[in-house]
Amino acid sequence: NKQVLLKDYVSGSPKESDFIIATDKEISLEVPESSDNGVLLKNLYLSCDPYMSLLMPKPANSTFEDGFSHYTPGSPINGYAVSKVLDSKHPKFKKGDLVWGITGWEEYSLIAEPDSLFKIEHTDIPLSYYTGLLGMPGMTAYVGFYEVCKPKKGEKVFISAAAGAVGQLVGQFAKLAGCYVVGSAGSKQKIDLLKNKFGFDDAFNYKEEQDLDAALKRYFPEGIDIYFENVGGKTLDAALLNMKSHGRIAVCGMISHYNLDKPERVHNLAHVLYKRIRMEGFAVYEYYHLYPKFLDLVLPYIRENKITYVEDIAEGLENGPAALVGLFSGRNVGKQVLVVARE
Ligand code: NDP
Repeated sequence: NKQVLLKDYVSGSPKESDFIIATDKEISLEVPESSDNGVLLKNLYLSCDPYMSLLMPKPANSTFEDGFSHYTPGSPINGYAVSKVLDSKHPKFKKGDLVWGITGWEEYSLIAEPDSLFKIEHTDIPLSYYTGLLGMPGMTAYVGFYEVCKPKKGEKVFISAAAGAVGQLVGQFAKLAGCYVVGSAGSKQKIDLLKNKFGFDDAFNYKEEQDLDAALKRYFPEGIDIYFENVGGKTLDAALLNMKSHGRIAVCGMISHYNLDKPERVHNLAHVLYKRIRMEGFAVYEYYHLYPKFLDLVLPYIRENKITYVEDIAEGLENGPAALVGLFSGRNVGKQVLVVARE
């Protein structure tokens, strides 16, 4: 059973050398007798997600408390994945079922308490999409945009990390809702995708802008109604200066802060008061009860080609560390997926 292990606790940005590829002893491909509810999974597609770096520092040094357990040096890391059930003692799952949810970064995983796994019912859609569009990032885009931002037709929407797993979908949801949408991202290739594939009204490369405040004034001369926040730092500061009165900021992520030893300062927070902005953080896992409602909305859009999705596919567990750490330099173009097996 090939695995990706955390070598030691990480400080600063994770590097490829923070991981070891190891082969565990031969494992039985059956759920052991001693397990009441276990399922044995063959992992097919692993999802590389920014939150995973928050689980790598020594727990006492981390600012991330809620929802997930820290990784343990010498043990496989874990994350969202699409997997096939090889054996099951759980009444909800049977051999041959396809599922998505949290599993180990390894070829096979025994999940003792599989209640939080989602069964995949719609297999006419590419299976890897359940790591992105139809999985956790898709739900994040849906919850953050519809539940937190509560958009209205004609509103002006700004999205950072707009070409990523979450951002590309938020932009397409916003266009479908009749909004004006501008995204920021970190390369020319990503800007082309935003404008020519995802249908954003406009997009800019934040790395080429000397003055982000001026850039936002150029794209939003009347101000921003909704800012979908994925990065934090200087982008948040510039967005705060450009929000309209009673604008909303959905704080989905702050990737520029995750691997810093000292938190970055935000200077313009007083604008939350001056402009009576509603700024709300959210965690997708508190909204999974809405997954069926999300599928009802999004499956027809996919089948009618009203929504498109770009993935960045890496092959093989040995390439997992590079794919994962690439998220923090913007190497991924679209949703970063790691293929372990295709069936
Ligand atoms: P992406 O696919 O967008 O990948 C991350 C991207 O972030 C990179 O490609 C890069 O794009 C950008 N980036 C990396 N470092 C920086 C930096 N220092 N400053 C600015 N941009 C940077 O990731 P996801 O779509 O999966 O996630 C987007 C955000 O949503 C993350 O912050 C994540 O933590 C958050 N999230 C939150 C959830 C929740 O429940 N609240 C659930 C899922 C995700 P570029 O080339 O444009 O710089």
